[in-house]
Amino acid sequence: MFKTIIEPFRIKVVEQIRMTTPEQREEMIRAAGYNIFALHSDDVIIDLLTDSGTGAMSANQWGGVMRGDESYAGSPSYFHFRDSVQDITGFEYVIPTHQGRAAERILFSVMCGEGDVVPNNSHFDTTRANVEARGAIALDLPSTELADMDSDYPFKGDMDVEGLRAAFAEHGAARIPLVMLTVTNNSGGGQPVSMANVREVAAVCREFDTPLYLDACRIAENAYFIKQREPGYADTSVRTIVREMCGLTQGCTMSAKKDAIVNMGGFLATRDPELAREEKNLLILTEGFPTYGGLSGRDLEAIAIGMQEGIDEDYLHYRITSTRYVGQHLRDAGVPLLWPTGGHAIYLDAERFAAHLEPTQFPGVSVAIALYLLGGVRACEIGTLMFGRHDPDTGQESAGPRELVRLAIPRRVYTQSHMDYVIEVVVKAFEERDSLPAYRIVEQAPVLRHFSAKLEPVR
Ligand SMILES: *Cc1c(COP(=O)(O)O)cnc(C)c1O
Repeated sequence: MFKTIIEPFRIKVVEQIRMTTPEQREEMIRAAGYNIFALHSDDVIIDLLTDSGTGAMSANQWGGVMRGDESYAGSPSYFHFRDSVQDITGFEYVIPTHQGRAAERILFSVMCGEGDVVPNNSHFDTTRANVEARGAIALDLPSTELADMDSDYPFKGDMDVEGLRAAFAEHGAARIPLVMLTVTNNSGGGQPVSMANVREVAAVCREFDTPLYLDACRIAENAYFIKQREPGYADTSVRTIVREMCGLTQGCTMSAKKDAIVNMGGFLATRDPELAREEKNLLILTEGFPTYGGLSGRDLEAIAIGMQEGIDEDYLHYRITSTRYVGQHLRDAGVPLLWPTGGHAIYLDAERFAAHLEPTQFPGVSVAIALYLLGGVRACEIGTLMFGRHDPDTGQESAGPRELVRLAIPRRVYTQSHMDYVIEVVVKAFEERDSLPAYRIVEQAPVLRHFSAKLEPVR
């Protein structure tokens, strides 16, 4: 009836934001070597660097933190956590880990070896690194629709099923120990995967007797998109959709720092008792005893409660609508971005935003720094600084595959007026786009250079 979607929570505790002036920010970004990762976060007004571990816990979760039982073995907090994850996913064996990548490391250590191939709609960077650490090949099979930034296609996160069949034909089922689907597809712009796609991928996996796992970090957001967009699901609850997705697969990894709305934690889940036994043996080696897995009892309580809050439909309605609200307003102002908006982030297209800059002049860096200078908004470049290559012999830079700037939205942290402010800042940067400077790198590390590189504007 009313068009305003309110935040379905009220605020009990607040965290002061330190306001800064453009002159102060000019100084701070220079001191940071023009690298947003080197900024102190209290020098940022609106921090959209990531949605991982940055959510606001509820009063209920904080209550759970106080109830957390810190017994080494058999803590009631573990059983609360296990029951909550079983309730939502239906997976019988649930193994806590300190975050998502620890679950990945254990899963791939048990399942993959040298020369194996792991297909995924798109590997997240830690997932890829953990597959490659086993000597296996991380094969991305995104849908062809993902390449079109402007189309309305509702499920750009889908896996390319023909590509998956081709991978089985090329490498043989014996070299493909598992297939993974990342929901939502984080490296693919936070775009959702359709139930039809999960079903088709599961059918191919069944044909080759290969297990299918979910990278389930944002499964609640994905399920909400299915409810909104996929024919036949409008009247199905998100809870039922999540169960159906999990029901088509053999297990999952999950970073609880995303849709379980906690600041730290993750888990690995499976239906296979033998696999679970092997995984627990590895867990003990590096993470901890299987009833805590590197987490405190209080963390397990917070995850148990957060898993349930993350699938609440009033929360998801607000979450997805507010992300879309930002995207829609930017699009209306002509700002180029990946459309439709995903669940957790807006991805600006810096190639078109700063069209006068070549990829090797770091248009994404230039846009991200403009947002910081203008409004103290911190966003993340996903472009040539992150994925380009530097040849140390010739000094030549080569471009990354895309020039994006990600505005990731923490869960339950910012209000609509914060988002209106972000929209204003981005639109202002877009109006001034012709004056955005090129950047060059003055210092860089040989790997993962985006975290520590020092840059300077070319005037
Ligand atoms: C965050 C993330 C991970 C890794 O989880 P961490 O908790 O950061 O280790 C894996 N996959 C996806 C899709 C993610 O977004």
